[in-house]
Amino acid sequence: MIAFDLPTAYFIAGILYVVMPITVGLLLRKDSTGTVLPWCAGGVVFGMSLVLLGSRKHLPYWASYPLANGLLFAGTALRATALRLALGRPLHKRWLALACVAFVGVYESLNAVSPIARFIWGSGVASATLIWLGFLAKDVHRRDQSFSAIWVSRVYLALGGVLALRALIAATGWEDPDVLSLNPLSVLMVLFGVLAAIVGNLGFMGIFLERLSRTNLEQATQQARQEEAARLGDQIAQLDRRRSVGEIAASLAHELSQPLTNIYLIADRLGMALEKTGDASLAQYLSDIHRNTQKAGDILGRIRAFIRSKETVFERVALGQVISDVTALINDLANNESVRLEVTLPAQNVWVRGDPVQLSQILMNVCRNAIQATQGQSERWLHLRVWRADGMACVEITDNGPGMQPEVLASVSTPFFSTKPDGLGVGLSISKSIAKHHGGTLSIGNHPDGGAVVVLQLPSID
Ligand code: ADP
Repeated sequence: MIAFDLPTAYFIAGILYVVMPITVGLLLRKDSTGTVLPWCAGGVVFGMSLVLLGSRKHLPYWASYPLANGLLFAGTALRATALRLALGRPLHKRWLALACVAFVGVYESLNAVSPIARFIWGSGVASATLIWLGFLAKDVHRRDQSFSAIWVSRVYLALGGVLALRALIAATGWEDPDVLSLNPLSVLMVLFGVLAAIVGNLGFMGIFLERLSRTNLEQATQQARQEEAARLGDQIAQLDRRRSVGEIAASLAHELSQPLTNIYLIADRLGMALEKTGDASLAQYLSDIHRNTQKAGDILGRIRAFIRSKETVFERVALGQVISDVTALINDLANNESVRLEVTLPAQNVWVRGDPVQLSQILMNVCRNAIQATQGQSERWLHLRVWRADGMACVEITDNGPGMQPEVLASVSTPFFSTKPDGLGVGLSISKSIAKHHGGTLSIGNHPDGGAVVVLQLPSID
C-alpha cells in the first residue's frame, strides 16, 4: 500500500494552485473590472506557499516558515481584495501590505515564545482570512444571485473551518503543532485545499461570466427601453399633432355653422320674396341652395358631435342610424379614393344600447382601415352588412384588400402596432375596448374569399 505523503500532497496542491489561476487569468485576460488580476495573483501566491510548505525538509527555516506562512496569508488576502473590488468595496493596497508585514512580524516574534504559539497564530490568522473570504463570496452571491459565488463561499468556509479546528487541536496539545504532521485533520485540510483550488477558480470564472452575461442583458434591456421610449415619444408627438388638428376641426365646424345658418335664412327670405314675383326658375336654384346648406350643416353637426363627445352616454341606438352617420362622414373619402361603399341593412331596424358616437368611432376606424387596405386593387370596394342573430346585433365589414399575414393578425389589436409608415396603431385596440365596454366583441380576421373581415357584435335590444 502506498502511504499518504503529506509533503507530496502539499506540493501537488501547490502546483494546482499555481497552474489554475494562471489558466483562469489567461482565459479572462480581457477583464476590465480589475478583479481578475488580484484573484489570480492571490491563487499563485497561495500555491507558492503550499509548495514551500511541502518542500519544508529541503528548505531553510526562513523560506519554509515565515515566508511560506506570509505567502499563505498574502494569497488569501489578495483573493479577498478581488472579491471586495467585485463588491464595490475596494481595499487599500497599503493596508494590505502592512497587514502582511504585521502578520509575519508577530509570527516571528512568537517563534521566540513557543512553536505552539507560532502555529496557532499562523493557522488561526490563515483560517480567519479564509472564513472572511468565504463570507465575501457569500455577499457576492447575495448581491448578484450568483450560483457560482455560493460554491466559492462554501468551499472557503469549509477550508477555513478545518484550519481553525487544526489550530485548536494543536493548542490543546493533542497533535504536533506542524502542518506536516500526519493526522486525519491534516489530510482533510489538504483535500479541502485541493477542492478549494478547483472550485474556487472555476467558481470565480463562473461569477465573472455570470456578471458579464448579466451586464450584456442589462445593456440590451436598457437599449430596448431607450428605443421604445424614443418610438413612443414620436408616436405621442404625432398623436398630439392629430389632437390639435381635431381641435381645429371642431372649432372650424363651430365657426362654419354660423355663416351656414345665415345662408340658410337668407335663402329662406329670398324664397319668400320670389314667391311674390312668381319666378319659378330662380325658386328652383334657391331650393338647391337650401338643400345643400342643410346637408352641409348636418355634416358639420356630426363632425362636432364626433370630435366633442367626451363622456359615454348610453342610449337606445339604431345600428342603421350609426351606419348612415359614418357613411356620411367617410363618403367623400371613399369617393376620392374610388372605393365603392355597399351597405346591406335588414328590413327591421336592429337596436342596441350604447353610445352612438363611440359606436361610430369603431366603424370609422374599421372603414378607414378598409379603404386604405384596398389601395392598389383595380376595383376597390367595402361592404357593411347588419343583421341580428341569437340576441346579438352584428355588423360585418369586409373589403377586397390583401387581408392580413398571420404575424400581422397575431398583433393587430396590440396598442401601437401598425404596419403603416404613418400609422399610430391605436385604432383597433381602442375599437376593441369600446366594444368590450358595450358588452360586445370586435373580431378581426381574413375572409375565406380574400380581404379582411371585421365583425362587431353587441347585445341587441327590442
Ligand atoms: P393604424 O391604422 O394606425 O395602423 P389600427 O389599429 O387601426 O392602426 O390598425 C393596425 C394594423 O392592422 C394596421 O397597420 C394594418 O396592418 C392592420 N389592418 C387593419 N385593418 C386592416 C384591413 N382591413 N386589411 C389589412 N390590414 C389591416
